[in-house]
Amino acid sequence: MQLANRLDQLPPYLFLEISRKIAEKRAQGMDVISFGIGDPDIPTPEHILTALKTTSDDPPNHRYPESDGLPEMRQAIARWYTRRFDIELGDKEIVPLIGAKEGIGHMALCLIDPGDIALVPDPAYPVYSVGTMFAGGTSYMMPLLEENAFHPDLSLIPEDVARKAKVLWFNYPNNPTGALATPELFEEVVAFAKEYDIAVCHDACYSEVTFDGYVAPSFLQTPGAMDVGIEFHSLSKTYNMTGWRIGMAVGNQQLIDALVRVKSNLDSGIPQAVQYMGIEALDNTTPQWLAANNEVYRKRRDRVVDVLTAIGLQVNRPKSGFYIWARCPDGWTSAQLATELLDKHAVVVTPGRGYGEAGEGYIRLSLTTPDERVDEGLRRLEGWRLPDAPAG
Ligand code: PLP
Repeated sequence: MQLANRLDQLPPYLFLEISRKIAEKRAQGMDVISFGIGDPDIPTPEHILTALKTTSDDPPNHRYPESDGLPEMRQAIARWYTRRFDIELGDKEIVPLIGAKEGIGHMALCLIDPGDIALVPDPAYPVYSVGTMFAGGTSYMMPLLEENAFHPDLSLIPEDVARKAKVLWFNYPNNPTGALATPELFEEVVAFAKEYDIAVCHDACYSEVTFDGYVAPSFLQTPGAMDVGIEFHSLSKTYNMTGWRIGMAVGNQQLIDALVRVKSNLDSGIPQAVQYMGIEALDNTTPQWLAANNEVYRKRRDRVVDVLTAIGLQVNRPKSGFYIWARCPDGWTSAQLATELLDKHAVVVTPGRGYGEAGEGYIRLSLTTPDERVDEGLRRLEGWRLPDAPAG
């Protein structure tokens, strides 16, 4: 049996060594605390679960859903976009997704032919480049550097690469850096996309997880953005719904139509009872609930940032998302620091290198760990002095 070459092209699994060590430590009876994966520990709100319970009894919801979702779901997304961003979307400018990840992966098949280039941020959520590779394309990495507010510098993209590129991916509020977009960045991306005839895919999955009064904009609010781009959203982060698998893409009709065509050949949509959860989430979740939910992360953020700063790490205090992006001290690679934290304190963090070359030199801590576990993890780090950097 021979597997496809593309499986060999998957990036090396950088977390493998850490996963192995976690299993080893747990087998030794150690209490390992994970700041690794970004997966809310707080349950889905009751009113959303009730929507699932009531609609799952209804036999029409036991049948194949449509790939482009229930009309009621598309309407709920349109209402939410109007309320949230003051953007009016037509029915053909919306497609519900089996989570944003599904749409991001499938989008590559809409835009990339073998030999094509995708412009992809580095560090980034890995699916942009993996989807590109699965479609036979190559990712041209745009480094997100701290000195440039973790924004891509489009002026550094060589002319021949820009001419060959089919799509530009970007993501704000950003995972893993916690960086925010500016209107200028969005305008620059629209102008760049128009100049080189490139589609833009903006991933806004963290737009509702915000703190300190920050309100995240939509890329589609930028003049001209609807001509060139679409935006991906997720209900996973906003409503603690990672397990239910629901998100959406909205924007340029041609791009949405392409995505629906690919999806209808490869998946059969979101279970309808889950779409009713989505409708309930978008229509009826109160701003008070959202504020209280975000406050949980805000408090964890402050505790984690304070302790990391006290032990000498240089750390951001993000206004959005649930990740702390901390700079490794001089001489430490991200994998070495992650291993040190695991070995000495049984605390799991993600090495930044796992998100791309430009992620080297940073570690990421996720805030989706229950309060008492966060406290325990921080207790282990308080007062700790990082030893000298390992040799080599
Ligand atoms: N985009 C980014 C930047 C993410 O961090 C994640 C999940 O971690 C996703 C997309 C996937 O979201 P979903 O659960 O809707 O598939």
